[in-house]
Order: sequence, then structure tokens, then C-alpha cells
Amino acid sequence: MRKLLLGNEAVARGAYEAGVTVSSAYPGTPSTEISEYIATYDEIYAEWAPNEKVAAEVAFGASLGGARSICAMKHVGLNVAADPLFTASYTGVNGGLVICVADDMGMHSSQNEQDSRHYAKSSKTLMLEPADSADCKNFVKLAYELSEEFDTPVLLRLSTRVSHSRSMTEVSERENIPVKEYKKDIAKYVMMPAMARGRHVFVEKRIENLKKWAEETEINRVIPCDALLGYEESGMSASGGEGLKLAGGKIGVISAGIAYQYAKEALGGKASYLKLGCVYPLPEKKIRDFVNSVDICYVIEELDPVIEDFCKTLGLKVIGKEKFSLLGEYTAEMIAKVVLGKEREVYETAKDVPQRPPVMCAGCPHRGLFYVLKQLKLNVMGDIGCYTLGALPPLSAMDTTLCMGAGIGMAHGMEKASGLLARKTVAVIGDSTFLHSGVTSLMNIVYNKGTSAVIILDNSITGMTGHQDNPATGKTLKGEATYQVNLEKLCEAVGVSRVIVADPFDLEKMREVIKTETEAAEPSVIIARRPCKLLNINYEERYDISAEKCKNCGICMNLGCPAISRPQGKAVIDNGACVGCGLCYRVCKFGAINEISGKKGGN
Ligand code: SF4
Ligand code: SF4
Repeated sequence: MRKLLLGNEAVARGAYEAGVTVSSAYPGTPSTEISEYIATYDEIYAEWAPNEKVAAEVAFGASLGGARSICAMKHVGLNVAADPLFTASYTGVNGGLVICVADDMGMHSSQNEQDSRHYAKSSKTLMLEPADSADCKNFVKLAYELSEEFDTPVLLRLSTRVSHSRSMTEVSERENIPVKEYKKDIAKYVMMPAMARGRHVFVEKRIENLKKWAEETEINRVIPCDALLGYEESGMSASGGEGLKLAGGKIGVISAGIAYQYAKEALGGKASYLKLGCVYPLPEKKIRDFVNSVDICYVIEELDPVIEDFCKTLGLKVIGKEKFSLLGEYTAEMIAKVVLGKEREVYETAKDVPQRPPVMCAGCPHRGLFYVLKQLKLNVMGDIGCYTLGALPPLSAMDTTLCMGAGIGMAHGMEKASGLLARKTVAVIGDSTFLHSGVTSLMNIVYNKGTSAVIILDNSITGMTGHQDNPATGKTLKGEATYQVNLEKLCEAVGVSRVIVADPFDLEKMREVIKTETEAAEPSVIIARRPCKLLNINYEERYDISAEKCKNCGICMNLGCPAISRPQGKAVIDNGACVGCGLCYRVCKFGAINEISGKKGGN
């Protein structure tokens, strides 16, 4: 049966069909839905882990226990999981192990644009890269066979466009894969130096064997130009001719993943393609033969010149980054311009899409805190989450964003650079991020006699990725009730005696608490607790501005709520966007803002 599946949904389906029984992940766009879809299968145990390292270790443990297992993360999550990855490459697996990593070309929701293919090479781990949903499902199933045959974890590299696009996918029944027996084998699984040296020899032999496989596998395949003439006639690419001869010779394209789709759309039957489904290790002979079969060969790959550099080490003449950008996402238009020297037609609607700059949602509980932080003119060491948007105008209340969990360590570093900075600096971190990788940094402050003030923005959910549960929400990925980590007690347990819980919408109190805690000569934690408004919207709650009472002071505009604007010079609330949080009511000094029902005071 064929189904129109999202790329991430197809990965989940592949895991299901391959007989996977254990899944662990930390949410991160664009990978999050893999786990959410996996959780819909009763046959698979699925969990959110507190971070990607834990998720990879859980999946590895399940593999060791004989199950086929999977974990998923975004590209920066693989930095966190790199430690177990590099050594799991040495130990190999028992049950098949697949690690999905979704790169975010164009940084739609990420702090950098790293290319995960480097991890495959440096950890000497097989990496497959699907180009559409059908590939996603098929490659996951293949990955389990390869993982067990070659005794290796397998990396599955995704991209935002492959993860979040839909295409037709053949679905089939689940295979019944029995859980393998666990056998104690310290030479394989205890990586102390003497054993690890032996396993390194194995890893190098494995790479040689995988290279031979990469030469033979059908997922690295040549698609001759005439094979795509029909595709081109369907009107999906620039009108084409015979395709065999253009610009004085035969055009070849080496590509993988979503870049292959762009190239195919741009060039159709005007080029022949070497579509690589395995991006590490690369098939030397196949690439050499392909380059030698065409007159001009382009390597079309987003981000880094990984395939191009490989070709050049083989002494092959290919065109790559001298014509194509190292930055961001490619488009079919851009490829057509470079290769064919002409513009492709762009659909008018694409030009008309309005810009939607990132902004905290209407009713966001973080807005009150950042409003106060801006007033206090503090240095704010930020972190990764929806609250990162507090850096943008008009709130403009965050100084840094580096990586998950970094803000707390950075605040401590600022203090050690200058005692004066300690009184003027706070760290902000979300509840989920604090549990991901903030706890250890807080412990470091206490241990090393720091005095930093840390604010945990507890909106009671993992907000940025779309409301995923975490150890502080009291619910599992499968929706079952579970133990709820008590943030206050956790902070006290690592040695913080000053732990204060405050409502970020109680602006006066929040102001006083922050002033007191930044002055304190010992570490403190302020838990700014208010659940994400989107968890429980009451559509009856709306606020409005009285044109008569409004003095046009602009204070409510400083909140940056997307429901408030000044289209004709006077502040108005868009009742369709307002979710009735009442924060604007709290800042208006002229009583101009009131709940539409007449009830005052917000919630
Ligand atoms: S804060 Fe009150 S008075 Fe000032 S612009 Fe907004 S609604 Fe008008
Ligand atoms: S009550 Fe005010 S601040 Fe809250 S969502 Fe509505 S307009 Fe925005």
C-alpha cells in the first residue's frame, strides 16, 4: 500500500517495519516528529530522554540487550551525543542500532549550520542519506541489516526539507525480529585501552568492507540523463531537449539527499546523476567511473564540500563550491542558473509569501520576565529555547546564545572574569534545557564558590519544539503519568540554598526578587514559573484597548506582543491573536486596557 508520508513519519515507519522495539530521543527541530510518530506504535517502547547523550546511550544499551533500537536528534544534538557515538563505533552492536541526525540547512531553527557528515568520517561510522520519504523508510530498514551485518551503528542523515516534506511511500508489514541473546564480551564492550586497540583494528577493517559494499549497493546509483526526460516533460523542470549534449558536452551531477532533488528539478534530463544514498564511506570506483563518463561533472551538495573534496583527493576534475554556496539551502533556480546559465520560472505565489519574523507567541509567559530584565539593564547569558527570542526588539533583553546549557556556565565565567560583572549578570534557561544540560553548570557554580543568579524559565513544557514532555512535566512520551522532577528540590540538592519561585507576570515582585538575588553573595536560583499559555487557551479571554483612555504612551508596545500594534498611530489589540494573558493590562498605567468581558486583572 502506498501512503503520502512526511519524511520523519517514514523514518518511524521504517523503524516499525524493521522490528525496532526501543526508541529514545531528545526533541530538536527538524527531527522531533520521528519520535512522536514512533510513539504511536504499540510495539515500540518510546521515550524522551533528558538529552541526546542519554538518548544515544539508552539506544546503545538496548542494542547491547539484543533489540533493534533507534535514537533521533538534530545536528547540534549529535555534538552532545558524540561521546557515546565515537566509542560505540568501536564496540559495534548486538541488535541493530540507528542514530538519526537531522541537519538544519538555512538555520530555520538552529544556532549553527554544521554538516553532520563530518561525524560519520571522524567516528568511522556508516552514514546513509535519504532524498525523500520513500528513501527514509527504505534506508532505515536497510540500515538495520547493515548495522547487524557489519557490526556498526548506522547514522541516518536527514535535512529539514526531507524531514518535513511529504512524498509517496510504499508501506508494508512489520518484520518479527526476535531480541538477540546478550553475551558478555569484555573484549568487545569494555573499551579500556588494551581492548580498544583491538577494536580499532576491527573498525579500520570494517571501513574497508563498507567501502566494498558502497561500490555495489543500489542506493549509490547512476541515473542516466534519458531516464529523466519523461520527468522533465511533466513540466517540473525547465523545458529540455535531448539532454545528451549541452554546453558542449555531457553533464554529470553527483549529489545526495535533498540536493539531489533540487538538481533533478533544475536539470531534469539534461544531466546524468550519480545519486549517493551512502555518504560515508564513499564509493571510489563508482565516482571515478561516473566522472570519467561525462564531459563536465558538478558536485551539488549543501553545506560543506565533503563529496567534492573526496573527488579531488582522487584527482578527479569536478565543479563544486567555486560555483555553489557553502551557506544555507539550495534551490532548483540557483542550480539551473549555475549549470544552464539561465533563470527558471519561479511561481508567482512564492514571491508573494509574507515575511514572518520570529516572535514570542501572544501570551508567552517569558515576556513578563524579559520586560523586567530589560528595565534592570542586566547582562543576560541566554540559552536555547523559545525564550531565545527575548534577544529581539523590543524586549532586547538577552546578550548571548551559544548552545544548550551554556548560559549558566557563561554567567559563572563572567563573574570569574570580573567580580563587578556578577552583580550585573544573570543566566536564563528553560526548564527542559536546565534538565538537558544546565544542572551540571549550576553544580559547578556552587562547587567553585560562585554567586551567580540563575533564572529558570519554567513554562512547564518543552516549548520551542512544539510541546514535548520532559522529566519535569510528569508525563512520558506515551502520555503516561510519571514521576515529576521537583526543580526547587533539585537546585537545593546541588547546594543552592536561595531558591525562589516567582510569577513572571507579577512584574513588581519579579523586579524585587531579581535585584535581591543579583546582590546576594551566594548562588541563587529564581524559578520564573508560569505554564505556556498555549497549553490551556480559553478563547473567552480577550483584552481590548479603550481609544478614549489610551494616552498613546507606547508602553504596551514594549512588550512585543504580536497581538498589539499601532496601525494608525494608536495601540490596538487584534482580538483574533490575543489569548488573554493580561500582561498588557498590567503595564498600562492609564487603565486603557481591559478584558472584553469587563473582568479586570488578567490571569
Ligand atoms: S500602555 Fe495603555 S496608554 Fe499606553 S499605549 Fe498602551 S494602551 Fe495606550
Ligand atoms: S492580553 Fe495583551 S499581552 Fe496578553 S496576548 Fe492579549 S494583547 Fe497580548
